[in-house]
Amino acid sequence: MKVPLLDLKAQYAELKEETRAAIDAVLESQYFIGGENVANLEKAVAQYSGTLDAVGVSSGTDALLSSLMALDIYRSPLDEGPADEVIVPAYTFFATAGSVWRAGAKPVFADIDPDTYNIDPKSLEEKITDRTKAVIPVHLYGQCADMDPICKTAKKHSLKIIEDGAQAIGAKQNGIKVGNFGDTAALSFFPSKNLGGLGDGGMVLTNDADIAQRLRQMRNHGMEPKYYHKRVGGNFRLDALQAAGLLVKLSRLDKWGDMRRANAAFYDAAFDGIEAIKTPVIRPENYSIYNQYIISSPKRDAILERLKSQNIGCEIYYPVPLHLQECFKPLGYKKGDFPNAEYAAEHTLALPIYPELSEQQLAFVAETVKSAL
Ligand SMILES: *Cc1c(COP(=O)(O)O)cnc(C)c1O
Repeated sequence: MKVPLLDLKAQYAELKEETRAAIDAVLESQYFIGGENVANLEKAVAQYSGTLDAVGVSSGTDALLSSLMALDIYRSPLDEGPADEVIVPAYTFFATAGSVWRAGAKPVFADIDPDTYNIDPKSLEEKITDRTKAVIPVHLYGQCADMDPICKTAKKHSLKIIEDGAQAIGAKQNGIKVGNFGDTAALSFFPSKNLGGLGDGGMVLTNDADIAQRLRQMRNHGMEPKYYHKRVGGNFRLDALQAAGLLVKLSRLDKWGDMRRANAAFYDAAFDGIEAIKTPVIRPENYSIYNQYIISSPKRDAILERLKSQNIGCEIYYPVPLHLQECFKPLGYKKGDFPNAEYAAEHTLALPIYPELSEQQLAFVAETVKSAL
């Protein structure tokens, strides 16, 4: 039996005709940039997330960058003095910190909660200086960061909050969905995310009409009206083909989320009582969408080898915490600075969790993991 980490072909089989019809309609229209499909997707995702507005952009990374730019965390060549600081977790996908750097601000790392892998609000508070302008809590693997203390701290120090919801569309905390905690939230439609496009794509959620307007300027070179540039933006636009494909998938998102959660429950039960495996800790106030199912084990590398030998897909997210990345060396961090981030990088492993997994496949994965111990 072969079990890939993700099998998008199974999903496409269900959507084939609808997707082809939607793509065909775009081809017939020959209208590829913006337009009705993008506007419809923005409306649908805002409604799904319960936010005032949503702005389609070219990727999750650009959703973060354009959020920073729209919130005026964006160094101009004429700025003098030290750079703005933005606090991000040391353990996340690179784009969270890379986008801060690209905006001309300094990423400042904080450690994570060892149970949820999300930013530790205490560590965040310790990193605040008088140059701190914003924090980017990441809702990693589909579970919301601890937003109550994060929002309180941000309010106390007048910090902007950009949620990195790239892995967490529709995730909830105390019944509130991602996108309703921060000034903006970045979503990604990278194909491996729960709502995956036919290529790259992203969206910014916001409850602030002014920020939404600035985001729409930023994604189009800061232009408004045509050929008049209010600020320097970029080309962060979302393609009509992407929007058409995503609109087909959006109506299935909750069903797929339920299937992911059922798969997670299967693994939770299968690994129950096994001391060498720590299963995901989902806090009672959280509703995870399980973009990934992450186990932690002192025997991580042996499990990985065994899974690979049995043709089971698995992956280490993320083997090098951000403070130890070569490109961030000039920031002066060293090994030992963020013990929880480093521990996670050394001990965690993602197992297949995609919706269409069969019970036989799930059982095979669970048995193979156990056999490696
Ligand atoms: C995927 C991801 C991004 C970037 O999204 P892209 O669409 O790939 O640019 C940012 N942050 C996190 C946490 C992600 O998982």
